[in-house]
Amino acid sequence: MNKKQGKASLYSKLLIMTLVPLFLLAVVIMSFSAHRFAEALHEEVKKGLQDLNATFLTMYDYLYPGEYTAVEMENEIYMLKGEHQINGDFSLIDRMKESTGVDITLFYQDARVITTLRDQSGNRIIGTMVNSVVKRDVIEKEIATFYPSVNINGTEYFAYYEPIKNSDGSMIGMLFVGKPAKEVYQSVRSSVMPIIVIGLIAMMLAGFVTLRFTKELISGIKKIELFLKKVAKGNLRDELDYEVLKRDDELGEMGKNAVHMQKALIEQVEKDALTGLYNRRYSEKKMEEIYKKGIPFSLVLCDIDFFKKVNDTYGHECGDLVLQEVSAILKRTMRGKGYAARWGGEEFLLVFEDYKKEQAIMVLQGIMEDVRNIRIEYKEEIVTVTMTFGVCEGTSEDLDVLLKEADDKLYYGKENGRNQIVE
Ligand code: GH3
Ligand code: MG
Ligand code: MG
Repeated sequence: MNKKQGKASLYSKLLIMTLVPLFLLAVVIMSFSAHRFAEALHEEVKKGLQDLNATFLTMYDYLYPGEYTAVEMENEIYMLKGEHQINGDFSLIDRMKESTGVDITLFYQDARVITTLRDQSGNRIIGTMVNSVVKRDVIEKEIATFYPSVNINGTEYFAYYEPIKNSDGSMIGMLFVGKPAKEVYQSVRSSVMPIIVIGLIAMMLAGFVTLRFTKELISGIKKIELFLKKVAKGNLRDELDYEVLKRDDELGEMGKNAVHMQKALIEQVEKDALTGLYNRRYSEKKMEEIYKKGIPFSLVLCDIDFFKKVNDTYGHECGDLVLQEVSAILKRTMRGKGYAARWGGEEFLLVFEDYKKEQAIMVLQGIMEDVRNIRIEYKEEIVTVTMTFGVCEGTSEDLDVLLKEADDKLYYGKENGRNQIVE
């Protein structure tokens, strides 16, 4: 249970490690650029409105030279520019709205004298007052001001107000030039949207690549884990997936090392350290497997003659060399025919798979000859040995019975001159 949680958490940890920073980075970049974009947009709109404002005032000066004056009659204010009566003449502001899309209002103090702005019923909102904030900033403080958000008759505007003064510096009113925020944002949306979409797609792609990479990594780790688990449980012949082994990274290295460990373990468990032949325990297991197949096989017990004498005369070290030489012959000859194992000190077991006794004996004759020809040079002496063989054949007879038979034959050979094959 614990282990399962551990596995899941490795995967999620990797995902968190990669996807969260990616996501945060995207959020930071997007919000930062959105902020910068809004700033740049305000600056751009402000400049545009400022220019239109100045253009309009210059045009007015050019068309109608003279000062602005205001006359109050029957509670209404009439405004003049030079000789020209401003009230009621919407031609210029309407044409400007048509060509630029901006709304324009000319104020006497804080009251609208002419405007392109209309109320719900379509009437121009002449005579209405500007809000208190604008009045304070532009009329009272006499400062040209840009507002990124002014509510006029329920509509949000980007607005620029410029104070209008006469040549003697006296405050007359102001000129408003504004653009509905909705229109500005609409055009922004259509230009920013592709960038956002591309950003999101890039992020999703990056996320997808990360996800795949993480999955692949985890799958490799899992394969190694499963392999080690099986080997640890005694399934020494299990094979690690080639996909892991062919990887050109640390995971591939880890897989290769796991396989090396498996091979070392096999050597330890199945092989005899001195001769490299299968050990008795493993050979019994293998014999059992062959026996279960129900195929005919030949079984041989063989033993080096007068081996004790070799040890006694030349020493144990020399005895070991003899054991290794003999083993090398057995291993080489048995390849493809069955297997050889070290049964005890200088005694060996040979199992011929699917071999009749006569066929096995032919092979044994070769082995016997090869052993006779061993020449071990040891401290200026030449050491030679011979071997005695007891051979029997079986299919599904009891293994112990067969082994006893082979042993008896070997004993017989020892008793009767050694250096021979006893059938
Ligand atoms: P026989 O012809 O009847 O088989 O006589 P033998 O001398 O070969 O047999 P014996 O059983 O009397 O002696 C076997 C000797 O093998 C005794 C033991 O010390 C030695 N021996 C067993 N294992 C090893 C080993 O790993 N290395 C060496 N050098 N000697 C070993
Ligand atoms: Mg012996
Ligand atoms: Mg012996």
